Amino acid sequence: MTLTLFDTQARETREFEPADPERVTMYVCGPTVYNHAHIGNFRAAVVFDLLFRLLRNKYGADHVVYARNITDIDDKIIAAARETGNEISAITRKFTDIYRQETAAFNVLSPTLEPHATDHIKDMIALVSRLIEKGAAYAAEGHVLFSVDAFAEYGGLAKVDQDEMVAGARVEVAPYKRNPSDFVLWKPSADDEPGWRTPDDWGIDGRGRPGWHLECSAMIKTNLGNTIDIHGGGLDLRFPHHENEVAQSCCANGTDTLARYWVHNGFLSMGSEKMSKSLGNIVLPKDLLKERHGEVLRWALLSAHYRQPLEWREALLDQTKKQLDRFYRLFLELKADDTSDPDETLEVPRSIILALENDMNTPEAFAGLHELRDIAVQLEGAARIRAIKRMRVAGQLMGFFEEDPEAWFRGVLSIETDDATRLSASDIDRLLQERARARAEKNFARADEIRDRLSSEEIIIEDGPHGATWRRK
Ligand code: AMP
Ligand code: ZN
Repeated sequence: MTLTLFDTQARETREFEPADPERVTMYVCGPTVYNHAHIGNFRAAVVFDLLFRLLRNKYGADHVVYARNITDIDDKIIAAARETGNEISAITRKFTDIYRQETAAFNVLSPTLEPHATDHIKDMIALVSRLIEKGAAYAAEGHVLFSVDAFAEYGGLAKVDQDEMVAGARVEVAPYKRNPSDFVLWKPSADDEPGWRTPDDWGIDGRGRPGWHLECSAMIKTNLGNTIDIHGGGLDLRFPHHENEVAQSCCANGTDTLARYWVHNGFLSMGSEKMSKSLGNIVLPKDLLKERHGEVLRWALLSAHYRQPLEWREALLDQTKKQLDRFYRLFLELKADDTSDPDETLEVPRSIILALENDMNTPEAFAGLHELRDIAVQLEGAARIRAIKRMRVAGQLMGFFEEDPEAWFRGVLSIETDDATRLSASDIDRLLQERARARAEKNFARADEIRDRLSSEEIIIEDGPHGATWRRK
């Protein structure tokens, strides 16, 4: 089977062939850690996690190196520190931890590498020095700028023409730019801003800090090499961010390719508008995870093809939960079954691999999972158990079906909630034990009180021969 990917640069779907199948490299632009990410920001994390899983499945887990960076130096972080009065390092540490926890709740695997921009300042300085030596960068009024005229292929990724680039750049064209499209590699830092000593031979004094585009070029070079297989990110990053990464990296490294395949995901919208902080229509994973299991959110994010727009709706989540329930109901049967060999490894059904390797066609893969389910329910005995297991393996390749089915129906959440009003699973278990004790002691008033308390939280108690079990309504 062949993996194909739509390559934004080529503007067509291409067969994926890594430069070295023993070391497949992928880089994805990660979060700027200064506040809570919104669910739109998570689309890239989930989409490229799926691609990471597919590559691991195809080339072997040890042969894929996936780097997703943490941008921990940025003007937005400096502004957040000023506004809140907190240290920059405290802010970036806090939101890096939150990002890791929340993505894990979506069953996003940790990338192989998670480079932090501030750990690569030396690499960024080396890159700028090389660009200055080559005449591709110049100092002006405390800044170092990349000279787009030094790179004949500038615009080759985004395929925007020179007029569009100028129009885009004109909004904030600084007078010291030689070409309006020139962009900042290094900018001066005021005394109260974070900064690193600017090398003496750059022709500017004092302290400075990197521009955002430069950060990714340096982290790619140090962690993955001069040319990587796949570079990913949200579609809006194609220009200018990725275009500028290409220009800097190729000029500094003397190569003609930064990434052999460019993969970009589409946007998440609310109604007809892109979900974005500036429009104020954002929904945070932090809040969603208080009500919904991460697998529901992951499924919803993958329900549209990754390049298509996806409209985020409450109804989509309700619908998704119901669909996942249908699968999990069958997994309850696996728990009850003790006839099969637990070490048996099952191959992922071909229909699912074919769909996913076809430019990550998740709608087709989901249809394939439903088909596997329809087949399983018609079977009985060992054949049924085996079919359910094959279906589970298929879903697991996509990052689903990892929850304990009983816990699933009890409504467990994938992350510790800070919502003190909601009873946790262990609180409920404790109350049920107390209720059993109260009944044994014929303290029916207390037993009823506990039942009423649970019922007011929409928790249904089912008394059975082996004691009481519970689930959420
Ligand atoms: P922002 O939070 O707007 O700085 O966005 C950070 C990155 O998240 C962007 O560069 C996008 O690639 C991605 N992103 C932001 N909004 C959306 C959205 N509505 N849908 C998909 N990706 C998004
Ligand atoms: Zn980047």
